[in-house]
Amino acid sequence: MVSAWASAGRKESCQHCNACINGEQVNCENGSVPTIMNKGGFASHLRADWQWVIPLPESMDITTAGPLLCGGITVFKPLLMHNINATSRVGVIGIGGLGHMAIKLLRAMGAEVTAFSSNASKTESILAMGADRVVNSRDPQALNALAGQFDLIISTVAVDLDWQPYFQALAPHGKFHTVGAVMKPFEVPAFQPDHGVTDAVMPGSSTGSPGQIAFVNETGIALTLRQR
Ligand SMILES: [Zn+2]
Repeated sequence: MVSAWASAGRKESCQHCNACINGEQVNCENGSVPTIMNKGGFASHLRADWQWVIPLPESMDITTAGPLLCGGITVFKPLLMHNINATSRVGVIGIGGLGHMAIKLLRAMGAEVTAFSSNASKTESILAMGADRVVNSRDPQALNALAGQFDLIISTVAVDLDWQPYFQALAPHGKFHTVGAVMKPFEVPAFQPDHGVTDAVMPGSSTGSPGQIAFVNETGIALTLRQR
């Protein structure tokens, strides 16, 4: 049953390029148009291509649906891309809006979740979100102790950090995936003295496409939002 419909971050894509035909409309070769090019979340009405209007399950609280359609799909897409499952070990850097949703999605999928946070006062609330452990991202020894452990590390921060400890924390074939818009190019070592070449992969992505967004709504995660 569908109780409502919502526009999903974009409102238009060409619907005939290779990306659109392959269900990757967010990567439309002719440019997809962000919803915010209208009046964004403040609009009372919106005209959008039917593909970008997503049915919301009746079980979903529509007051929490908005973040899932933007930040939620942004962190859910890497989990799909890298085949994350209940045996995966995943780290999340930055526990704000995106990181919070990443932890909840990973918890729902049964993965082991490590949160990297620079704010010790958030530890209890991060554990309550579903993280298995919280690591102080400003503690070099704590980061170095995690070498070789993670199948995936998702970075949600938009600032430049010392990324090397995180690269070293990847297991062989691990992925470091950024969804944060860091303006400074990443320096990525092709070879790490202590670990050699680990076949690691380091991609990035923005939001997702309609098919993925419909799927994230089915996870049934409940967000913790501050009402205004
Ligand atoms: Zn297209």
